[in-house]
Amino acid sequence: DKTPVTLLGLGAMGTALARAWLAAGHSATVWNRTPARADALAAEGARTADSAAAAVAAGPLVVVCLLDDASVGEVLADADLAGKDVVNLTTCTPGQARTRAAWARERGARYLDGGIMAVPPMIGQPEAGGYVFYSGSCELFDRHREVLAVPAGTAYAGADPGSAALHDVALLSAMYGMFAGVTHAFALIRREDVDPAEFAGLLADWLTAMIPMVHGVAAELGVGGESEEDASSLAMQVAGTPTFLDTARQQGVSPELLTPYFELMRRCLAERTGEGAPRSMVDLLLG
Ligand code: NDP
Repeated sequence: DKTPVTLLGLGAMGTALARAWLAAGHSATVWNRTPARADALAAEGARTADSAAAAVAAGPLVVVCLLDDASVGEVLADADLAGKDVVNLTTCTPGQARTRAAWARERGARYLDGGIMAVPPMIGQPEAGGYVFYSGSCELFDRHREVLAVPAGTAYAGADPGSAALHDVALLSAMYGMFAGVTHAFALIRREDVDPAEFAGLLADWLTAMIPMVHGVAAELGVGGESEEDASSLAMQVAGTPTFLDTARQQGVSPELLTPYFELMRRCLAERTGEGAPRSMVDLLLG
């Protein structure tokens, strides 16, 4: 028989997760602070619990998908976690995940932390490529590997419970850097006679062509890593920054998304000659 799943938190993500398990034939007990959000799932076969504690008591595997770490503490405060397998898919910091793992272990639970690399429409759609980083109890991960693979792919990031959150936040941080650049690029063309849809195609192709450069950064950061032949030297790039800032000014666009990165490039050139630029840029951020 398929493992029953308890799910606490029926926001956009929790609802998508519950739906995926129900569709795969798992029985599901759900709870949400605002009970009405469970109505649609109840109609699809989920059992609803009157309290979080009752939902936890209903089965061995408890999945939590709430807004933040504070809400996890509130919701689980009165639940008996002894002997439970707790999978926390609430986005949090690595430090919060480690503290939450110790907190759960003190209450007799096994604990796995998760960072979801997907948006709700990708849940239960394997071909969409979404997956979840998991870290913490390897025993729990192995025991429930198939259940966890129902809503999205799985990637075990290690026994340190903070590791999933660290990977999650690192990937999302890079995404925000990319969105910053995209926002600036569209602002530059906003008042001009440029078709945004056509421009989007050019932009997506350009970013795709640049993406493999992340492997070059990794090669430099690796043991004995060497900088590659400098086809685009840092000195050349720093010399070019006024072109970008002047263009922004001419287009009436605030340079606020560009200047922090340019500042780091300039600092790197001034302070760290003779080292590979990407490595020194990364190391400069470490202080
Ligand atoms: P929503 O804002 O849609 O839902 C938030 C949920 O948390 C609701 O169930 C809400 O209950 C509950 N909640 C908030 N505060 C409390 C509290 N103090 N006590 C009890 N319950 C509380 O968020 P999502 O479902 O989108 O996100 C949930 C988690 O999934 C987040 O950590 C998010 O970072 C993560 N995630 C979301 C993604 C997305 O694209 N949506 C992508 C990847 C990760 P109520 O209905 O009563 O308000």
